[in-house]
Amino acid sequence: AQLIPEITFPGIQLLPKETTSSIPIKRLDGKVAIVTGGASGIGEATVRLFAIHGAKVIIADVDDALGISLANSLSPHVTYFHCDVTSEEHIQTLINSTLSLYGKLDILFNNAGVLGNQSKHKSILDFDADEFDQVMRVNVRGTALGMKHAARAMIAARSSGGCIISTASVAGVMGGLGPHAYTASKHAIVGLTKNAACELGRYGIRVNCISPFGVATRMLVNAWRVDGEGVGEEEVEVEKMEDFVRGMANLKGETLRVKDIAEAALFLASDESRYISGHNLVVDGGVTTSKNCVG
Ligand code: NAD
Repeated sequence: AQLIPEITFPGIQLLPKETTSSIPIKRLDGKVAIVTGGASGIGEATVRLFAIHGAKVIIADVDDALGISLANSLSPHVTYFHCDVTSEEHIQTLINSTLSLYGKLDILFNNAGVLGNQSKHKSILDFDADEFDQVMRVNVRGTALGMKHAARAMIAARSSGGCIISTASVAGVMGGLGPHAYTASKHAIVGLTKNAACELGRYGIRVNCISPFGVATRMLVNAWRVDGEGVGEEEVEVEKMEDFVRGMANLKGETLRVKDIAEAALFLASDESRYISGHNLVVDGGVTTSKNCVG
């Protein structure tokens, strides 16, 4: 076999047959996925995209009203379970219920997260320790518990494969982009991802995370409003916030949308990324590579 493909000019590369791929239209056909924090924002967009691509999806969230309404609108492909990710009992029940319903678990998207009420400007000199703990409980403990019980189920199934994705953040890549607890928690998610990938690779389980830049979801818009920068109607505030975020981006004129993050999750969940593990996929329009990014 020819190892290095012959290169013809101008610009046409003849690839060996085995390197050409055809991407299926339904990229998660037959897969079973759990999306924590799936009732809103990035999670909701991912639930929709995974379902379009043929997966059976379980929304795991604490917002029952939003979760049930989303699941009903996408029935029978999507189901809702109440699950507080800080509770090991809830996570165990979630995984067991998924196995009872569908007989397997292929994908866990550990996406539930909170920002905390601290203003990003609040100093390390006067942060609130109880709130710090709560952010760490949801973002770090919740993510680690998800990894633990999803991996156990995947290993017990003895099937090849399994995929765990978590939502970190640009605040998990560098400082100055979020409150202290949030930044610490998101750095921890990147670390957990790398460690778990080292350990779970032998079972064929891939573990990755995604680090989005600012995107208009309830979390960010609420933070924008309570930070005192936003005072008007929600729609106006979303526009102002998006202007602010666009101003920091390198891809001028482009606005990051929840669908962009869902597409990254789809890639990491699908077989197209079969050799990618331990990776932090930064979806930030190049912001964290810029010297201007820390506000
Ligand atoms: P969001 O508020 O719209 O969604 C968060 C979801 O998590 C909500 O549905 C909420 O009910 C759920 N949730 C909160 N605590 C939970 C718990 N204990 N158990 C189960 N579910 C819980 O906000 P979002 O922006 O879509 O956030 C999703 C993830 O993206 C978070 O991890 C967040 O840190 C991360 N993120 C967001 C941004 C952004 O700019 N919006 C940027 C980087 C990373």
